[in-house]
Amino acid sequence: MTLTAAAAAMQIVNNALGVLNAARERAKGSKDSDLKDHISTLQDSLLELKEVVRRLTDENDELRRMIAQLENPKEKPEIRQVGAVNYYFVGDKGPYCQPCYDVKEKLVALSPQQKGPSGAIHRDCLVCQLSFYETHVETSVSRLGGRRSFS
Ligand SMILES: [Zn+2]
Repeated sequence: MTLTAAAAAMQIVNNALGVLNAARERAKGSKDSDLKDHISTLQDSLLELKEVVRRLTDENDELRRMIAQLENPKEKPEIRQVGAVNYYFVGDKGPYCQPCYDVKEKLVALSPQQKGPSGAIHRDCLVCQLSFYETHVETSVSRLGGRRSFS
C-alpha cells in the first residue's frame, strides 16, 4: 500500500517527535538550561506542524472526494441508439443532440418525432440545425446513420 504525501508527512513528524522525546529525557540530567529551552521550543514547533499536517490531510481527503464526484457524476449522459441514430440520454430524460453535447458539452433537447414528406421519422436540433433520421426511406440519397442538414 502506498502512502499519500500527507500520510508520509505525518509519519515523519511522529518520528521526529519520538526522537525529540528521547533527547528531552537525556537533557533532564543536564545543567544546560539553553538546551532545555531549545528542546521545548522545538517540541512546540513540531506539535504545531503536526496540527497543520492533520489539517492538510483532511483538506486533501475532501479534495479527493470532490474530484471523484466530478469524474463520476451520478447521472452521466449516455449514448443510446434509436433506430438509425445515436442520441444522448440522462436516465429517462432525453433524447439530446449528440453533436451538440460532443462539441459543446451542452445537452440540447431535440424536437418531438416528426414525419417527413417521405415518411421517414426524424427529430431536429434547433441549435445545430441538424435533423436525425430514425428511420430511412430507401432512396439513393439516404445514408446509413443518416443525418441531413435541416435547411
Ligand atoms: Zn445539436
